[in-house]
Amino acid sequence: MLLVEFTALALVALQFAAHGPTSLPDFRLAALITVLGIVHTEISLGVERVRRRVSDGNYVDLTSVWTFAGAVLLTAPQAGVVAAVVSGHLWWRAWRLRTPLFRHAFTASTIVLSCLAASGVMSSIAGGALGTADDGNLRLAALVLAVLVYTTVNSCLVAGAIAVSSPQFDPTKVFASWEENVLEIGTLSLGALTAVVLVVNPWLVLFVLPPLLVLHRAVLVRQLEAAASTDGKTGLLTAAAWHTQAERELRRAERREGPRAVLVVDLDHFKAVNDTHGHLAGDQVLAAVADALRSEVRDRDLVGRFGGEEFVVLLGGLDEPGGDGRGLEAVAERIRRRIASLRVEMPTADGPLTVAGLSASVGGSLYPGDGGDLRTLLHVADTALYAAKRAGRNAVRLGVQVPAQVDPLAEPVGPRGSGEPPAAY
Ligand code: GH3
Ligand code: MG
Ligand code: MG
Repeated sequence: MLLVEFTALALVALQFAAHGPTSLPDFRLAALITVLGIVHTEISLGVERVRRRVSDGNYVDLTSVWTFAGAVLLTAPQAGVVAAVVSGHLWWRAWRLRTPLFRHAFTASTIVLSCLAASGVMSSIAGGALGTADDGNLRLAALVLAVLVYTTVNSCLVAGAIAVSSPQFDPTKVFASWEENVLEIGTLSLGALTAVVLVVNPWLVLFVLPPLLVLHRAVLVRQLEAAASTDGKTGLLTAAAWHTQAERELRRAERREGPRAVLVVDLDHFKAVNDTHGHLAGDQVLAAVADALRSEVRDRDLVGRFGGEEFVVLLGGLDEPGGDGRGLEAVAERIRRRIASLRVEMPTADGPLTVAGLSASVGGSLYPGDGGDLRTLLHVADTALYAAKRAGRNAVRLGVQVPAQVDPLAEPVGPRGSGEPPAAY
């Protein structure tokens, strides 16, 4: 982060030294764009603060409309300063309480560097600011390229920071989602239009603000939707969101062949964890189990928290029966073993605490064999889960279960699945 920040600072200083005193009209334009950026932030302060509260970190900054317009119209060092001022003001007014300064300084530096790169594209292709090249097509090409360079530099710097600060390199996690990238391109396109408008007649910029504020609200709604479907304690889908997405996935399965499966996972004797270590420790265990579940299935599989210490998974891409080990039983067993081997370490007021010896019972059902709709699949998986509990817990049971046996000394029931020897309970 420091490297990026020093580079941004050094490049702006070098550019100032190279460009010499800047012209007055440029200075006025820089001041105008800065004021517009600040006005935009002030008008959208309410929306921005809520966005900040519900954001999960990776986050498209809509003031890039102004910083990009600056990159297109101003000299590189001026564009850098405009970006730093607009971004600093945004941090001070909206993000200060939630984002530490060092993180925002890094974000601002990536924006400054993106502006310098976009400005470099404009000056090397279109001969400087937007209006200076005679050839209209050339200016258009420079503008398109500037958008691409801006977004590429920004994404790569942010992705680089995420990559070096996370223990494992996962390319799907370091780059922003498709939707976020589309939003970034949309914002920069609005920035390009703003630049054109500012050249034609600065008053026309009044037509930019209303659509920008509407876009801001639309982005907030999308973020709120995402927050509402996420369980705060575990980061998994909430029960309602899981239901909606699982229904959609099953409808897709009807059209495209390929089995799907439902797993219901319930932690064994979880009340004892709470009773022994307290609810806060219990919460950390739930979060660790959620992480374990997510890491044992594919990214496309849906993992939700059904309530309390009960989780639910919709699996796709299964290879039934046998095959490459992606059979339902293999996945369910893997999850059971993973939870049984979990050691959850956490700091407490009395020193570090390790919770181990957990176990879970798992019930599963297969689409379309065990049921043709989600309700039936959940019912079958839930009944199988209870069979696993009756079989002594820390066990997997799959598919429709034979009725409970009356003989209490009978062997564990269940047509499929496996488990540890029943324990006393
Ligand atoms: P079984 O093996 O039969 O499933 O036993 P159990 O103790 O896991 O089951 P039971 O349903 O009796 O208890 C569930 C416990 O989960 C009770 C409750 O205190 C705990 N629990 C539910 N939600 C939360 C939560 O959000 N945080 C914490 N810490 N505990 C929770
Ligand atoms: Mg339980
Ligand atoms: Mg339970």
